[in-house]
Amino acid sequence: MSGPQARGTASGDGDGTRAVRAGLPEPAKYEPTLPGPVFAAHYHLPGEPTGPYTYGRDENPTWAHLERAVGELEAPGEDGVETLVFASGMAAISSVLFSQLRTGDAVVLPSDGYQALPLVRAQLEAYGIEVRTAPTGGDAQLGVLDGAKLLWLETPSNPGLDVCDIRRLVSEAHARGALVAVDNTLATPLGQRPLELGADFSVASGTKQLTGHGDVLLGYVTGRDTEAMAAVRRWRKIAGAIPGPMEAWLAHRSLATLHLRVERQNASALAVAEALRDWPEELGVRYPGMAGDPSHPIASQQMRRYGCVVSFTLPTRARAERFLDALRLVDDATSFGGVRSTAERRGRWGGDAVPEGFIRMSVGAEDPEDLVADVLSALEESAR
Ligand SMILES: *Cc1c(COP(=O)(O)O)cnc(C)c1O
Repeated sequence: MSGPQARGTASGDGDGTRAVRAGLPEPAKYEPTLPGPVFAAHYHLPGEPTGPYTYGRDENPTWAHLERAVGELEAPGEDGVETLVFASGMAAISSVLFSQLRTGDAVVLPSDGYQALPLVRAQLEAYGIEVRTAPTGGDAQLGVLDGAKLLWLETPSNPGLDVCDIRRLVSEAHARGALVAVDNTLATPLGQRPLELGADFSVASGTKQLTGHGDVLLGYVTGRDTEAMAAVRRWRKIAGAIPGPMEAWLAHRSLATLHLRVERQNASALAVAEALRDWPEELGVRYPGMAGDPSHPIASQQMRRYGCVVSFTLPTRARAERFLDALRLVDDATSFGGVRSTAERRGRWGGDAVPEGFIRMSVGAEDPEDLVADVLSALEESAR
Protein backbone atom coordinates (compact mmCIF):
# COMPACT_ATOMS: atom_id res chain seq x y z
CA MET A 1 0.00 0.00 0.00
CA SER A 2 1.37 3.43 -0.77
CA GLY A 3 1.93 5.59 2.28
CA PRO A 4 1.25 4.62 5.88
CA GLN A 5 -1.69 2.35 6.60
CA ALA A 6 -4.82 4.10 7.75
CA ARG A 7 -4.94 4.25 11.51
CA GLY A 8 -7.99 2.02 11.69
CA THR A 9 -6.96 -1.28 10.16
CA ALA A 10 -4.18 -3.79 10.65
CA SER A 11 -3.68 -6.80 8.44
CA GLY A 12 -4.45 -9.14 11.35
CA ASP A 13 -7.88 -7.60 12.01
CA GLY A 14 -10.94 -9.62 11.10
CA ASP A 15 -12.89 -8.93 7.92
CA GLY A 16 -15.68 -7.08 9.74
CA THR A 17 -13.23 -4.84 11.54
CA ARG A 18 -11.37 -4.05 8.33
CA ALA A 19 -14.57 -3.44 6.39
CA VAL A 20 -15.89 -0.80 8.78
CA ARG A 21 -12.56 1.02 9.07
CA ALA A 22 -11.00 0.51 5.65
CA GLY A 23 -9.46 3.62 4.15
CA LEU A 24 -10.47 6.01 6.91
CA PRO A 25 -8.07 8.91 7.39
CA GLU A 26 -6.47 9.80 10.71
CA PRO A 27 -9.17 11.25 12.97
CA ALA A 28 -8.99 15.04 13.05
CA LYS A 29 -10.93 17.19 15.47
CA TYR A 30 -14.20 18.50 13.98
CA GLU A 31 -13.73 16.50 10.79
CA PRO A 32 -16.19 13.72 9.85
CA THR A 33 -15.09 10.09 10.12
CA LEU A 34 -15.36 9.65 6.37
CA PRO A 35 -14.75 12.99 4.64
CA GLY A 36 -17.52 13.99 2.25
CA PRO A 37 -17.13 13.86 -1.53
CA VAL A 38 -14.78 16.45 -2.98
CA PHE A 39 -16.31 17.98 -6.09
CA ALA A 40 -13.44 19.52 -7.98
CA ALA A 41 -12.51 19.73 -11.64
CA HIS A 42 -9.28 21.46 -10.62
CA TYR A 43 -7.45 22.47 -7.48
CA HIS A 44 -5.66 25.66 -6.47
CA LEU A 45 -2.25 25.17 -7.96
CA PRO A 46 0.09 28.14 -7.93
CA GLY A 47 3.59 27.72 -9.35
CA GLU A 48 5.02 24.36 -10.40
CA PRO A 49 2.18 21.91 -11.21
CA THR A 50 3.10 19.12 -8.80
CA GLY A 51 0.61 16.80 -7.07
CA PRO A 52 -1.01 15.29 -5.13
CA TYR A 53 -3.98 17.22 -6.53
CA THR A 54 -3.77 19.05 -9.82
CA TYR A 55 -6.63 18.25 -12.20
CA GLY A 56 -9.84 16.32 -11.57
CA ARG A 57 -9.31 13.66 -14.23
CA ASP A 58 -6.01 12.66 -12.65
CA GLU A 59 -6.59 12.76 -8.90
CA ASN A 60 -9.33 13.24 -6.35
CA PRO A 61 -9.10 12.89 -2.54
CA THR A 62 -12.40 10.96 -2.41
CA TRP A 63 -10.96 8.37 -4.82
CA ALA A 64 -7.78 8.25 -2.75
CA HIS A 65 -9.69 7.25 0.40
CA LEU A 66 -11.68 4.62 -1.51
CA GLU A 67 -8.60 3.27 -3.26
CA ARG A 68 -6.86 2.82 0.03
CA ALA A 69 -9.95 1.08 1.45
CA VAL A 70 -10.25 -1.37 -1.44
CA GLY A 71 -6.51 -2.07 -1.22
CA GLU A 72 -6.84 -2.90 2.47
CA LEU A 73 -9.56 -5.44 1.64
CA GLU A 74 -8.00 -6.93 -1.52
CA ALA A 75 -4.48 -7.27 -0.12
CA PRO A 76 -4.37 -6.73 3.63
CA GLY A 77 -0.87 -6.07 4.90
CA GLU A 78 0.78 -6.28 1.47
CA ASP A 79 3.20 -3.48 0.71
CA GLY A 80 3.51 -1.93 -2.71
CA VAL A 81 -0.04 -2.73 -3.77
CA GLU A 82 -1.87 -0.02 -5.64
CA THR A 83 -5.59 0.38 -6.35
CA LEU A 84 -7.20 2.56 -8.99
CA VAL A 85 -10.93 3.23 -9.16
CA PHE A 86 -12.89 3.59 -12.39
CA ALA A 87 -16.27 4.69 -13.68
CA SER A 88 -17.45 1.08 -14.07
CA GLY A 89 -16.27 -2.49 -14.03
CA MET A 90 -15.90 -2.41 -17.80
CA ALA A 91 -13.69 0.69 -17.57
CA ALA A 92 -11.47 -1.20 -15.11
CA ILE A 93 -11.35 -4.32 -17.30
CA SER A 94 -10.60 -2.31 -20.44
CA SER A 95 -7.88 -0.35 -18.65
CA VAL A 96 -5.94 -3.53 -17.92
CA LEU A 97 -6.44 -5.19 -21.30
CA PHE A 98 -5.79 -2.12 -23.42
CA SER A 99 -2.86 -0.83 -21.36
CA GLN A 100 -1.05 -4.18 -21.20
CA LEU A 101 -1.57 -5.56 -24.71
CA ARG A 102 0.02 -4.43 -27.96
CA THR A 103 -0.50 -5.40 -31.58
CA GLY A 104 0.89 -8.90 -32.08
CA ASP A 105 0.40 -9.94 -28.42
CA ALA A 106 -1.84 -12.84 -27.47
CA VAL A 107 -4.32 -12.88 -24.61
CA VAL A 108 -6.40 -15.71 -23.13
CA LEU A 109 -9.96 -14.77 -22.19
CA PRO A 110 -12.70 -16.91 -20.65
CA SER A 111 -15.18 -18.26 -23.21
CA ASP A 112 -17.91 -18.20 -20.54
CA GLY A 113 -17.22 -14.87 -18.85
CA TYR A 114 -19.10 -11.62 -18.47
CA GLN A 115 -21.34 -10.89 -21.42
CA ALA A 116 -19.48 -7.75 -22.56
CA LEU A 117 -16.23 -9.69 -23.06
CA PRO A 118 -17.10 -10.66 -26.66
CA LEU A 119 -17.32 -6.94 -27.47
CA VAL A 120 -13.92 -6.43 -25.87
CA ARG A 121 -12.62 -9.37 -27.87
CA ALA A 122 -13.72 -7.81 -31.14
CA GLN A 123 -12.00 -4.54 -30.21
CA LEU A 124 -8.78 -6.31 -29.20
CA GLU A 125 -8.79 -8.17 -32.51
CA ALA A 126 -9.36 -4.93 -34.39
CA TYR A 127 -6.10 -3.73 -32.82
CA GLY A 128 -4.27 -6.81 -34.04
CA ILE A 129 -4.19 -8.62 -30.71
CA GLU A 130 -4.68 -12.37 -30.87
CA VAL A 131 -7.52 -13.52 -28.60
CA ARG A 132 -7.69 -17.13 -27.48
CA THR A 133 -10.49 -18.41 -25.28
CA ALA A 134 -10.93 -21.24 -22.81
CA PRO A 135 -13.78 -22.18 -20.48
CA THR A 136 -13.34 -21.27 -16.82
CA GLY A 137 -13.45 -24.80 -15.40
CA GLY A 138 -11.28 -27.74 -16.40
CA ASP A 139 -7.81 -26.19 -16.90
CA ALA A 140 -8.20 -25.77 -20.68
CA GLN A 141 -6.36 -22.43 -20.28
CA LEU A 142 -3.14 -24.45 -20.05
CA GLY A 143 -3.49 -25.63 -23.62
CA VAL A 144 -3.61 -22.09 -25.06
CA LEU A 145 -1.18 -20.31 -22.75
CA ASP A 146 2.09 -20.65 -24.66
CA GLY A 147 3.27 -17.28 -25.90
CA ALA A 148 0.38 -15.37 -24.33
CA LYS A 149 1.13 -12.05 -22.66
CA LEU A 150 -1.88 -12.06 -20.35
CA LEU A 151 -4.23 -14.66 -18.88
CA TRP A 152 -7.65 -13.31 -17.93
CA LEU A 153 -9.64 -15.36 -15.41
CA GLU A 154 -13.16 -14.82 -14.13
CA THR A 155 -13.80 -17.04 -11.15
CA PRO A 156 -16.51 -17.76 -10.19
CA SER A 157 -17.70 -17.09 -13.72
CA ASN A 158 -20.81 -15.06 -14.40
CA PRO A 159 -23.37 -16.53 -14.94
CA GLY A 160 -22.26 -20.19 -15.02
CA LEU A 161 -20.56 -20.19 -11.58
CA ASP A 162 -17.66 -22.38 -12.66
CA VAL A 163 -14.35 -21.83 -10.90
CA CYS A 164 -10.71 -22.37 -11.78
CA ASP A 165 -7.65 -22.97 -9.62
CA ILE A 166 -6.09 -19.50 -9.52
CA ARG A 167 -2.87 -20.54 -7.79
CA ARG A 168 -2.18 -23.34 -10.24
CA LEU A 169 -2.96 -21.29 -13.35
CA VAL A 170 -0.88 -18.37 -12.06
CA SER A 171 2.13 -20.57 -11.55
CA GLU A 172 1.79 -22.04 -15.05
CA ALA A 173 1.24 -18.58 -16.57
CA HIS A 174 4.17 -17.02 -14.74
CA ALA A 175 6.41 -19.88 -15.79
CA ARG A 176 5.57 -18.93 -19.39
CA GLY A 177 6.04 -15.20 -18.79
CA ALA A 178 2.34 -14.24 -18.84
CA LEU A 179 0.67 -11.87 -16.40
CA VAL A 180 -2.59 -12.94 -14.77
CA ALA A 181 -5.67 -10.85 -14.05
CA VAL A 182 -8.66 -12.16 -12.09
CA ASP A 183 -12.15 -10.68 -12.32
CA ASN A 184 -13.10 -10.73 -8.64
CA THR A 185 -16.56 -9.21 -9.01
CA LEU A 186 -18.63 -12.17 -7.92
CA ALA A 187 -16.53 -13.12 -4.90
CA THR A 188 -15.77 -9.60 -3.60
CA PRO A 189 -12.48 -9.10 -1.73
CA LEU A 190 -14.05 -10.68 1.35
CA GLY A 191 -14.69 -13.84 -0.64
CA GLN A 192 -11.41 -14.17 -2.50
CA ARG A 193 -8.03 -12.40 -2.60
CA PRO A 194 -6.52 -13.01 -6.03
CA LEU A 195 -3.23 -11.23 -5.24
CA GLU A 196 -2.64 -13.54 -2.28
CA LEU A 197 -3.17 -16.44 -4.71
CA GLY A 198 -0.44 -15.00 -6.93
CA ALA A 199 -2.37 -12.99 -9.51
CA ASP A 200 -0.92 -9.73 -10.80
CA PHE A 201 -4.23 -7.88 -10.97
CA SER A 202 -7.53 -8.18 -9.18
CA VAL A 203 -10.13 -6.38 -11.26
CA ALA A 204 -13.76 -5.94 -10.36
CA SER A 205 -17.05 -4.26 -10.92
CA GLY A 206 -17.93 -2.42 -7.73
CA THR A 207 -21.45 -2.09 -9.12
CA LYS A 208 -22.43 -5.46 -7.71
CA GLN A 209 -22.03 -6.79 -4.17
CA LEU A 210 -19.13 -4.50 -3.28
CA THR A 211 -21.44 -1.48 -3.10
CA GLY A 212 -24.56 -3.62 -2.78
CA HIS A 213 -27.44 -1.20 -3.17
CA GLY A 214 -27.98 -1.23 -6.93
CA ASP A 215 -27.44 2.52 -7.18
CA VAL A 216 -23.78 3.00 -8.12
CA LEU A 217 -21.62 2.02 -11.08
CA LEU A 218 -17.95 1.62 -10.20
CA GLY A 219 -14.89 -0.46 -10.99
CA TYR A 220 -11.39 -0.94 -9.66
CA VAL A 221 -8.03 -2.51 -10.39
CA THR A 222 -5.68 -3.63 -7.63
CA GLY A 223 -2.16 -4.66 -8.61
CA ARG A 224 1.34 -4.96 -7.25
CA ASP A 225 3.46 -4.50 -10.38
CA THR A 226 4.43 -0.82 -10.30
CA GLU A 227 5.12 -0.56 -14.00
CA ALA A 228 1.92 -2.31 -15.02
CA MET A 229 -0.12 -0.16 -12.66
CA ALA A 230 1.48 3.00 -14.04
CA ALA A 231 0.22 1.93 -17.47
CA VAL A 232 -3.26 1.29 -16.05
CA ARG A 233 -3.23 4.74 -14.47
CA ARG A 234 -2.16 6.27 -17.78
CA TRP A 235 -5.03 4.46 -19.52
CA ARG A 236 -7.50 5.89 -17.00
CA LYS A 237 -6.15 9.34 -17.74
CA ILE A 238 -6.33 9.06 -21.52
CA ALA A 239 -9.69 7.25 -21.61
CA GLY A 240 -11.04 9.53 -18.87
CA ALA A 241 -12.99 6.61 -17.38
CA ILE A 242 -13.12 8.13 -13.91
CA PRO A 243 -15.78 7.73 -11.23
CA GLY A 244 -17.68 10.79 -10.05
CA PRO A 245 -16.79 11.89 -6.52
CA MET A 246 -20.33 11.13 -5.34
CA GLU A 247 -20.14 7.56 -6.63
CA ALA A 248 -16.74 7.07 -5.04
CA TRP A 249 -18.00 8.38 -1.72
CA LEU A 250 -21.16 6.25 -1.84
CA ALA A 251 -19.00 3.22 -2.55
CA HIS A 252 -16.74 3.93 0.41
CA ARG A 253 -19.76 4.46 2.65
CA SER A 254 -21.15 1.12 1.46
CA LEU A 255 -17.93 -0.74 2.29
CA ALA A 256 -18.68 -0.22 5.97
CA THR A 257 -21.52 -2.74 5.67
CA LEU A 258 -19.79 -5.07 3.20
CA HIS A 259 -19.02 -7.72 5.76
CA LEU A 260 -22.55 -7.68 7.20
CA ARG A 261 -24.12 -7.85 3.75
CA VAL A 262 -21.83 -10.56 2.46
CA GLU A 263 -22.29 -12.75 5.54
CA ARG A 264 -26.05 -12.44 5.37
CA GLN A 265 -26.51 -12.70 1.62
CA ASN A 266 -24.07 -15.55 1.13
CA ALA A 267 -25.60 -17.60 3.96
CA SER A 268 -29.04 -17.03 2.45
CA ALA A 269 -27.74 -17.94 -1.01
CA LEU A 270 -26.64 -21.31 0.34
CA ALA A 271 -30.07 -21.78 1.95
CA VAL A 272 -31.82 -20.96 -1.34
CA ALA A 273 -29.46 -23.25 -3.29
CA GLU A 274 -30.11 -26.15 -0.93
CA ALA A 275 -33.87 -25.62 -1.11
CA LEU A 276 -33.66 -25.68 -4.92
CA ARG A 277 -31.48 -28.79 -4.83
CA ASP A 278 -34.05 -30.54 -2.65
CA TRP A 279 -36.97 -29.61 -4.93
CA PRO A 280 -38.41 -32.73 -6.61
CA GLU A 281 -37.60 -31.54 -10.16
CA GLU A 282 -33.94 -31.64 -11.21
CA LEU A 283 -32.97 -27.98 -11.67
CA GLY A 284 -29.21 -28.21 -12.17
CA VAL A 285 -28.64 -25.83 -9.27
CA ARG A 286 -25.22 -24.24 -9.06
CA TYR A 287 -23.66 -22.57 -6.04
CA PRO A 288 -19.91 -22.81 -5.45
CA GLY A 289 -20.44 -22.92 -1.68
CA MET A 290 -22.72 -25.96 -1.79
CA ALA A 291 -21.23 -29.37 -1.02
CA GLY A 292 -21.56 -31.50 -4.14
CA ASP A 293 -21.39 -28.55 -6.57
CA PRO A 294 -18.80 -29.20 -9.29
CA SER A 295 -17.10 -25.91 -8.30
CA HIS A 296 -16.97 -26.68 -4.60
CA PRO A 297 -13.68 -28.63 -4.35
CA ILE A 298 -11.59 -25.81 -5.86
CA ALA A 299 -13.74 -23.00 -4.49
CA SER A 300 -13.31 -24.30 -0.96
CA GLN A 301 -9.52 -24.18 -1.38
CA GLN A 302 -9.26 -20.62 -2.59
CA MET A 303 -12.42 -18.79 -1.56
CA ARG A 304 -13.27 -17.56 1.90
CA ARG A 305 -16.92 -16.90 1.01
CA TYR A 306 -18.89 -17.98 -2.02
CA GLY A 307 -20.95 -15.07 -3.21
CA CYS A 308 -24.67 -14.33 -3.35
CA VAL A 309 -25.44 -15.68 -6.83
CA VAL A 310 -27.26 -18.97 -7.39
CA SER A 311 -28.11 -20.32 -10.80
CA PHE A 312 -30.52 -23.02 -11.92
CA THR A 313 -32.42 -24.10 -15.00
CA LEU A 314 -36.15 -24.47 -15.43
CA PRO A 315 -37.33 -26.81 -18.18
CA THR A 316 -38.62 -24.15 -20.58
CA ARG A 317 -38.55 -20.44 -21.27
CA ALA A 318 -42.27 -20.17 -20.50
CA ARG A 319 -41.83 -21.88 -17.16
CA ALA A 320 -38.95 -19.55 -16.29
CA GLU A 321 -41.06 -16.51 -17.19
CA ARG A 322 -43.97 -17.78 -15.09
CA PHE A 323 -41.57 -18.44 -12.22
CA LEU A 324 -40.18 -14.90 -12.34
CA ASP A 325 -43.71 -13.45 -12.48
CA ALA A 326 -44.77 -15.50 -9.48
CA LEU A 327 -41.97 -14.26 -7.21
CA ARG A 328 -43.10 -11.68 -4.68
CA LEU A 329 -39.84 -10.68 -2.98
CA VAL A 330 -37.45 -11.07 -5.89
CA ASP A 331 -37.42 -8.38 -8.57
CA ASP A 332 -36.97 -9.32 -12.21
CA ALA A 333 -33.84 -7.31 -12.94
CA THR A 334 -30.31 -7.79 -14.17
CA SER A 335 -27.08 -7.18 -12.23
CA PHE A 336 -26.53 -8.82 -8.83
CA GLY A 337 -25.20 -8.33 -5.36
CA GLY A 338 -27.76 -5.86 -4.03
CA VAL A 339 -29.52 -6.03 -0.67
CA ARG A 340 -32.80 -6.58 -2.53
CA SER A 341 -33.01 -9.95 -4.24
CA THR A 342 -33.21 -10.04 -8.01
CA ALA A 343 -33.43 -12.76 -10.63
CA GLU A 344 -33.59 -12.92 -14.37
CA ARG A 345 -33.87 -15.30 -17.26
CA ARG A 346 -30.35 -14.86 -18.48
CA GLY A 347 -31.10 -16.05 -22.00
CA ARG A 348 -33.18 -12.94 -22.66
CA TRP A 349 -29.96 -11.03 -23.39
CA GLY A 350 -28.74 -13.49 -25.97
CA GLY A 351 -25.07 -13.13 -24.98
CA ASP A 352 -24.49 -16.15 -22.74
CA ALA A 353 -24.36 -19.80 -23.75
CA VAL A 354 -27.15 -20.82 -21.37
CA PRO A 355 -30.42 -22.73 -21.83
CA GLU A 356 -33.64 -20.73 -22.36
CA GLY A 357 -34.87 -21.60 -18.86
CA PHE A 358 -31.62 -20.61 -17.12
CA ILE A 359 -32.20 -18.34 -14.11
CA ARG A 360 -29.52 -16.29 -12.42
CA MET A 361 -30.66 -15.31 -8.97
CA SER A 362 -28.98 -12.77 -6.72
CA VAL A 363 -29.83 -13.36 -3.10
CA GLY A 364 -30.37 -10.22 -1.05
CA ALA A 365 -30.59 -9.37 2.63
CA GLU A 366 -34.24 -10.29 3.21
CA ASP A 367 -35.00 -12.92 5.86
CA PRO A 368 -33.80 -16.21 4.44
CA GLU A 369 -36.98 -18.06 5.46
CA ASP A 370 -39.07 -15.52 3.51
CA LEU A 371 -36.89 -15.88 0.44
CA VAL A 372 -36.87 -19.67 0.47
CA ALA A 373 -40.65 -19.71 0.91
CA ASP A 374 -41.09 -17.22 -1.95
CA VAL A 375 -38.87 -19.23 -4.31
CA LEU A 376 -40.59 -22.53 -3.47
CA SER A 377 -44.07 -21.10 -3.86
CA ALA A 378 -43.10 -19.55 -7.24
CA LEU A 379 -41.74 -22.93 -8.34
CA GLU A 380 -45.03 -24.55 -7.39
CA GLU A 381 -47.20 -21.86 -8.96
CA SER A 382 -45.20 -21.80 -12.20
CA ALA A 383 -45.46 -25.60 -12.50
CA ARG A 384 -49.24 -25.46 -12.77
C1 LIG B 1 -21.09 -6.61 -14.05
C2 LIG B 1 -19.80 -7.26 -14.33
C3 LIG B 1 -18.80 -6.58 -15.02
C4 LIG B 1 -19.00 -5.20 -15.59
O1 LIG B 1 -19.16 -4.24 -14.58
P1 LIG B 1 -19.91 -2.84 -14.83
O2 LIG B 1 -19.73 -2.14 -13.53
O3 LIG B 1 -21.33 -3.17 -15.17
O4 LIG B 1 -19.22 -2.16 -15.95
C5 LIG B 1 -17.61 -7.24 -15.23
N1 LIG B 1 -17.39 -8.49 -14.78
C6 LIG B 1 -18.33 -9.18 -14.12
C7 LIG B 1 -18.05 -10.56 -13.65
C8 LIG B 1 -19.57 -8.59 -13.87
O5 LIG B 1 -20.51 -9.29 -13.23
